[in-house]
Amino acid sequence: MSDGYGIETELIHADRDAAGYGDVTPPIYQTSTFSFDDAQSMARAAHAPGFERFYTRHGNPNHGQVERVLAAIEGGEAAMVSASGMGAISATAVALTKAGDHVVAQRVTYAGTRSLLTSVLSRFGVDVTFVDQADTAAFKMAMRPNTTLVMLESPSNPLLGITDIEAVASIAHDAGALVTVDNTIATPVNQRPIGLGADVVLHSATKYLGGHSDLIAGVAVSSKALIARIWETHHILGATLGPFDAWLLLRGLRTLEMRVARHNDNALRLAQFLENHPRVARVYYPGLASHGQHELAARQMNGFGGLLSFEVDGTFDDARRVIDKLSLVHSAVSLGGVESLIAQPAAMWPNIPDSPESRLMGIIPSLLRLSVGVERIEDLIADFDRAL
Ligand SMILES: *Cc1c(COP(=O)(O)O)cnc(C)c1O
Repeated sequence: MSDGYGIETELIHADRDAAGYGDVTPPIYQTSTFSFDDAQSMARAAHAPGFERFYTRHGNPNHGQVERVLAAIEGGEAAMVSASGMGAISATAVALTKAGDHVVAQRVTYAGTRSLLTSVLSRFGVDVTFVDQADTAAFKMAMRPNTTLVMLESPSNPLLGITDIEAVASIAHDAGALVTVDNTIATPVNQRPIGLGADVVLHSATKYLGGHSDLIAGVAVSSKALIARIWETHHILGATLGPFDAWLLLRGLRTLEMRVARHNDNALRLAQFLENHPRVARVYYPGLASHGQHELAARQMNGFGGLLSFEVDGTFDDARRVIDKLSLVHSAVSLGGVESLIAQPAAMWPNIPDSPESRLMGIIPSLLRLSVGVERIEDLIADFDRAL
């Protein structure tokens, strides 16, 4: 598509008539391999990164369609889909580091990303330093001559911490490091990290991009050169997205802008309701003036997203009882679907003691994390009012 279209338009048209048959909804290329007219064109295709008609672990037309839309909406040159968010994050981190390198990452980051750094890359000679995402100066202090990668995530989960992406990207680039931003919770509707200086944008497409809790997928968006580099590692590691799941992801993406607009509105209304409720001790939502980094969030985001957390004024068990009393909201992990989901982070890490460090990570006994869906807001407020 030509430049200048809005995100709503790119979501619908960026992959237009990719198959050349005029199909408005693309077919599903449920095939593992593709045939060639002659041996020479087959040999050429074997060496083309991400070629869409060779072998599906290398690429597939359904990958290409959704990748064009994802690159357009994130403002990148190219994208690469993966079988999960962790598939995209792992391939990116492995592709962009080698033994002897140093990575700087946020202390509060997705648990899988943290484990990738502390239990996998560490075994291959890659060092990591974790810093407080709110402390921009700490990133500068953490940089070393061998720092090659800075991994960011904003907002983070579950306390909705914000990283100053533009400031940290500039510190990283001055030191010669590349910057990744996990944009899962914001989505490109609310935040476009490439415009703020990020080199690679990562997503769990399982969440808002797919949007209907019916698939697991991931994506990396970047320059053509960096996506080719990441693909070189990715097609060896082998976390290939199935053609049908790529098709489902494209179908979910069509309505991303509308869904996120409603998630934003609903989450703000619910955050305001909870903040004024006597049984709620504290609400964490970047759209509230009470959030410690509200001004930074307002500067780098167009909307504050659909995820919020709150502390029930009571114990671990009191918080658990709130979940049990909700009738509309599902008790489930994950986030970003059309339905509201609630979870108690402390119940998922039962062996971690209640300490200042665990509290920084959001493992607060009475904390509930809520992915606000697109239901009618009055119905959600009534459900919480009753449960509290
Ligand atoms: C869910 C999630 C991931 C991991 O994605 P999967 O699709 O489950 O592999 C990574 N980052 C964030 C912020 C997430 O919420």
